[in-house]
Order: sequence, then C-alpha cells, then structure tokens
Amino acid sequence: MQQTIGRFAPTPSGGLHLGSLCAAVASFLNSRAQGGLWKVRIDDIDKAREVPGSGKSILYVLDALGMEWDGPVVYQSQQISSYASVIDSLIERQLLYPCTCTRKKIGGRPYPGNCSRLEGLSFANTQLRLRLEESRISFNDAYLGRIEGDLKKDSGDFIVKRADGVFSYDISTVIDDELMGITEIIRGADLARLTLRQVYLQNLLSFKDINYGHIPLVCDANGKKLSKQGGATAITIDSAQKTMVKALLHLGLNPKPEMMREASSVLLTWALTQWQIVNSKRQN
Ligand SMILES: [Zn+2]
Repeated sequence: MQQTIGRFAPTPSGGLHLGSLCAAVASFLNSRAQGGLWKVRIDDIDKAREVPGSGKSILYVLDALGMEWDGPVVYQSQQISSYASVIDSLIERQLLYPCTCTRKKIGGRPYPGNCSRLEGLSFANTQLRLRLEESRISFNDAYLGRIEGDLKKDSGDFIVKRADGVFSYDISTVIDDELMGITEIIRGADLARLTLRQVYLQNLLSFKDINYGHIPLVCDANGKKLSKQGGATAITIDSAQKTMVKALLHLGLNPKPEMMREASSVLLTWALTQWQIVNSKRQN
C-alpha cells in the first residue's frame, strides 16, 4: 500500500493562531495515525504579504508543541524554477494566454474570456490565464462529502501567473504537492471550493490524485473565520499548551479534565489513539 504523506503549508503572513493550529494538528494526526509522514512547507511565494520572521516563529511553535515534521522544510520561494517550467509547458500546449483586463473591469464576476482570442499580447509582464477546456469538476471530501463545481461559472479562465511575476496559489501548491509526494491534504473548509481548481490542474498536468478533507473552521464570537487579517491572536510559547487543548476540542477530541494540563506532546500521543477512532467512524 502507498504510504500516506500529509503536509501543513502555512503562509508566513503572521504567527500561528488557533485556526491554523487546528489545520496543522488535524493533518498531523491524520498522517501519523496511518503510520505516514508529515511534512511542512512555508508558502512564502508572495513576498509582499510576508511578515518577516513569521515563518521562523511558526516552525518554532510547531516544534515547541511536539509536532515533529519529516524531512527538510520546503520553502516555495526556492521552488520558482519548477513553477516556471510548468508554466512554459502549459504555454507550449497553448493552454495559457496573456490578459490585460484589470480586476476592476471584471468586477468580481467569472472571467468572460475577453482576451482569450486576442493575438500579439506579450507573455512577459502580463498576467496569464488558463484556458479551460472542460469545466465540470468534482472530488470526494472526507468531511464535506462530494464537492462539485463548474469552473467556467465559478471563476472562468483563472490566473496562474500575475503580471508582477508571482505564480498563483493554485499552480504553486499543486506543483509542490506533487513534488513532495503528498497523498492527503487536511485543511480548513475555506479552501474547499479552491480545491476544484487544483484538482483541474492536477488532471491537466497528469499529477497523482490527492485525498482531501476540509475541517470546520474556527470562528470568532461574531461567527467570522479566525484569520491573521482579522487579528487572530498569535500563539506564543506561553499560550501554546492551552491552545493545543482548544484545538483538540475543536477537532472533536475531548481530553478529560485531568489531562488538560499535560504537555502538548502527551496530549498529541493521546489524541493519536482517539483520532483513529473518530477516523474509522467517519469512513464507515
Ligand atoms: Zn483579459
């Protein structure tokens, strides 16, 4: 049987918070419960959004929580040549075209394909869009069931490289997941719809299929998703153990009161046995 390889891939735009920790813990437990590997990647491709030092502090907190990862940490900023060669192959297959439309012009609607038939536009310093051939896509999610969509109606031909040269989240994540041999992705439910584009790209590039599971989001008192942008509290070494308890509770694992003060690594060992039970119920 194929070995399970999971991953956690935070963006270094701030510290780890309860919401991102839940995704990390769920993917960690999911891989380890199957005797698999768990890898960490720092998605630092968009340098404009990076908060200096936050990649390092995320790794520091994971380490302090006893969440050991396998192999070296992968940094997307060091993978640019892989993305560029995939983009070149898509250009060669005539699947990309330059687009000069502004975001304002499109106004949040699915892209109607204005530039798809224009000739003579430069591929350099222009955003590149993927020419969708078919657009109905679906996958089975371990938590949400079957997810279906029509990419033409969802987004239209979507951007894979921005005018400033930054590769899109979809294309970079799909390439790295393939290169890292990832077999299972467990992450927050806000990324479930985006997965449709990623499945489309995987098919297009003949990459291996990945099993997905999108866990319920952690929300604040107003029902909004906890996020760095929304000012979610970053986990510090002092708050790490307490936040681990909260994360386990959010994931439906209920440590007994006498366990609540245990070290995070002890809690994780306990959680691993519980995860197998929860997981087997989910699959049956
Ligand atoms: Zn356009």
